[in-house]
Amino acid sequence: NKKKLVAGNWKMNGNVAANDALVRALVAGMKDAKCQVALCVPAPYLAQVQMLRHGSPLELGAQDVSKHEQGAYTGEHSAAMLKEFGVRYAIVGHSERRQYHGEGDQLVADKAKAALAHGITPIVCVGETLEEREAGRTEEVVKRQLAAVIHTNGHCISEIVVAYEPVWAIGTGRTATPEQAQQVHAVLRAQLHAATEHPDRVLILYGGSMNAANAASLLAQPDIDGGLIGGASLKAPDFLQIIAAAG
Ligand code: 13P
Repeated sequence: NKKKLVAGNWKMNGNVAANDALVRALVAGMKDAKCQVALCVPAPYLAQVQMLRHGSPLELGAQDVSKHEQGAYTGEHSAAMLKEFGVRYAIVGHSERRQYHGEGDQLVADKAKAALAHGITPIVCVGETLEEREAGRTEEVVKRQLAAVIHTNGHCISEIVVAYEPVWAIGTGRTATPEQAQQVHAVLRAQLHAATEHPDRVLILYGGSMNAANAASLLAQPDIDGGLIGGASLKAPDFLQIIAAAG
């Protein structure tokens, strides 16, 4: 039975004082955690959180990574740079970047490749919009999104983490039911089966209004291997309860 992963995605939240209090509370509160825990923080705070987590099992993550190695790409940060701050995970293809920054499937796949090349585990986000769900296109959409990453990354695909985040459940308080989530996770697992000899190595996280109250029932599903937590990762007691639920 593999260890689950609970990853916080702070998005564009935080400040030096608040981060200090939050990370200290998490480090102190997660001493008995049996799952893996990571925080995906805004790039300006990587150094701060790297220092605060020192000596704890808390892993560090970024929220994006460039597909390029280096050079004239103003505003981007490379996998090599992230690596210098102890970054273990990088979210790629979050729906907010797909929606607000026009990121498409191939760019997301290239970003995953850049991360893997530097030993950073990409957390590849997939998920349908409400319109797509209502049109019965959920499976088609998430399979298309994952297919690009599989095609570009070949046998390395067993090294990624997948996060299923239905867009309509993000920040809305409207979470997918455990059954709805499990159904999509099973589709993604089957797709990984066809692509790698080690599909069970790949953790498939659920994200979208996951909180202290609903975490346990989502995490009890056979193909839900953890969570990617937005809002609830900004409050230590809530995030610690989700970590505890991941057992
Ligand atoms: P919420 O948990 O705030 O819905 O955000 C989910 C998410 O987008 C995590 O990446």
